[in-house]
Amino acid sequence: MRGTVQGVGFRPFVYRTACELGLSGWVGNDSRGVLLEAQGTPSALSALVRLLTSRPPPLAVVEQVEVLAVPVQAATGFVIAVTDVGGVPDVRVSADVAPCEACLAEVGDPADRRAGYPFVNCTDCGPRYTIVRAVPYDRPGTTMAPFTMCPPCQAEYDDPADRRFHAQPNACPDCGPTATWTAAGGGQLVGASALAAAADSLRSGGIVAVKGVGGYHLACDARDATAVEELRRRKQRPDQPLAVMVSDLAAADELCELDQEARAAVVSSRRPIVLAAVRPGADLAAEIAPRLTEVGVMLPSSPLHVLLLDAVARPLVMTSGNRSGEPVLHRDEQAHQVLGPLTDGVLAHDRAIHVRVDDSVLRSRTGGRLQMLRRARGWVPQPIRLPVPATSPVLAVGAQLKSTVALARGGTVVLSQHLGDLDAWPAYQAFAEAVEHLVGLTGVPPAVVAHDLHPDYRSTGWASQCGLPLLGVQHHHAHVAACLVEHGMHSPVLGIAFDGAGWGTDGTSWGGEFLVADLSRSTRVGHLAPVALPGGDAAVREPWRVALAWLHRSLGAEVAAEHGPRWDARWPAVLALAASGRAPETTSMGRLFDAVAALLGVVSHVTYEGQAAIELEALARTADPRKTPAYAFAVTAGRLDPGPALAELLEDRARGVPVAQLSAGFHRALAEASAELAAQAASQHHLDTVALTGGVFANVVLGDQLAERLRGRGLRVLQHVQLPPGDGSISVGQAAIAAACTSA
Ligand code: ZN
Ligand code: ZN
Ligand code: FE
Repeated sequence: MRGTVQGVGFRPFVYRTACELGLSGWVGNDSRGVLLEAQGTPSALSALVRLLTSRPPPLAVVEQVEVLAVPVQAATGFVIAVTDVGGVPDVRVSADVAPCEACLAEVGDPADRRAGYPFVNCTDCGPRYTIVRAVPYDRPGTTMAPFTMCPPCQAEYDDPADRRFHAQPNACPDCGPTATWTAAGGGQLVGASALAAAADSLRSGGIVAVKGVGGYHLACDARDATAVEELRRRKQRPDQPLAVMVSDLAAADELCELDQEARAAVVSSRRPIVLAAVRPGADLAAEIAPRLTEVGVMLPSSPLHVLLLDAVARPLVMTSGNRSGEPVLHRDEQAHQVLGPLTDGVLAHDRAIHVRVDDSVLRSRTGGRLQMLRRARGWVPQPIRLPVPATSPVLAVGAQLKSTVALARGGTVVLSQHLGDLDAWPAYQAFAEAVEHLVGLTGVPPAVVAHDLHPDYRSTGWASQCGLPLLGVQHHHAHVAACLVEHGMHSPVLGIAFDGAGWGTDGTSWGGEFLVADLSRSTRVGHLAPVALPGGDAAVREPWRVALAWLHRSLGAEVAAEHGPRWDARWPAVLALAASGRAPETTSMGRLFDAVAALLGVVSHVTYEGQAAIELEALARTADPRKTPAYAFAVTAGRLDPGPALAELLEDRARGVPVAQLSAGFHRALAEASAELAAQAASQHHLDTVALTGGVFANVVLGDQLAERLRGRGLRVLQHVQLPPGDGSISVGQAAIAAACTSA
């Protein structure tokens, strides 16, 4: 049996099923999955095969069952065989799972031997991917190896009737990991008093580092404005929204408006952060998500979090424990070093995290499906089906920002967790570790490495030095391919790829693209009008620069000079650069959102990626739809020109039209113009399907309005659901393209 069959209680399940059917034989893990031999009556044997696939344990995903006849040997009873560690590993490790009801009941029962124990788990729950060092999945291959089970734990582990039969991370207060509290002023506490000290600190306004499932968090009281401000100051994160952990669904309901699908995601055993509209009057510090209308909530992802939330009895900010722009910290020594000075204490434990995995982030959208924004804990390393199987293994190394890597083999691809922005050296190290871990888990060296065309991406640099055959994939082609993977398609579509930046086939920076593409080819058939990007990277951090460039391009130097002084004293030099023709040009849609945000006075300097667009969208959501002004782009010969709309926006702004209406008007005009250009291109190229992809489509106002208009023109629309629309999916797209190109 192959698939996600190790670490999910599969062997005990086989054992119980075989015993029920009166079969004798054995079951064991091997490097390729679960191997079993059974003998008995033909009808019992076929019942076994049927039951193994029709009612597997909750966390198992059976991908393949191979049945063959072997000579009968004398055997009585059914046993679980010792692990065979030979062969080439090719096994699906399960994702990490939040504590199950049965385990939580034990933690809450004062008479239970695991009462109040923060590391309780069983075959249905607990850490998995984050603790696995090597396959096959067995205790010696995990970070639980140093803990020797006590006799009662060993008895559970050995008893086929027990819920913990072969639960690899099985532990109890006598033999398992222990919580520790290290106070900033010195002094250490262990066990229950460690948890109590952390809770005391949080209740009195402290900032605490907490070791979670896939890394450390920084926590504070989410109702305490002073604590939240202090956390922002210490972490040097002034604006980016912070996630909030609450004890249960009722507490989440008090904070935000969750529809049925969002509620199901919040309580699911994957325990993601779900972004949803803040309930008016919610008891939360305003500093959690400044100027935004949504908040990210999650329920406890481990028993340690359950106990901490119980003890504190209020919502807690839970934000990644890292230096700004760097990946989440997961090694204890480093975490203490970096986070110790930022906090009043560190709540940790002695079970090592082998693989760092961030919290996953989903966004709730009214009337629509949930949208994945960051795919990590709870999803990784769950495989994704490929539209065209990979005949030889492909490693895809992704882009630069929101980096992920992917490994395709046969009919599926495994996407790594979100690794961060490779500009930061520690993120590049995480990238290199993720490649090694992913290849290690499959044990087969890739035959092809797919990479972005951008020569300066660190992922491209890694590829160029790996010594394997390479396949360069255009950035926006990869975006469209990722969207095709989600929908199991490989026939040509019209792809609309809107993002911040990607290397074009002409060597310029693209980002507002209309492509005719399938998994093996892509042709650019339309794009946003190009504009100067004065100052390169500085123009990304300072939206006013590109606003000046758009003004100059659309309305001339005089109008640009009128607006310059309200943004930055350096405006004359920047305007001169934009006018000189020496600045690089871009067709980036992300930069157009930046420009509009600056023009409308929303934000002129940003502190996190996507901030301008996120704040503009939040404004558009609050606007009265009956009062949305009608603006127009010029759409000609495969080109979108926002010039006319920019002029109208400025006029209306001068007339005092509320900025929310202006933002709504911009969104609507962009959706209308994009739909028009798409419809023209689709008809010209005889296509009936449009794929919406790229980081700009994290914006659901734009995505939903554009989708509605495309459907109104008789087109089928593909949108991202299970994969993030942004660069986190680039590696999947690259892998799918490489698979299609090498199989042809
Ligand atoms: Zn459990
Ligand atoms: Zn024990
Ligand atoms: Fe992109």
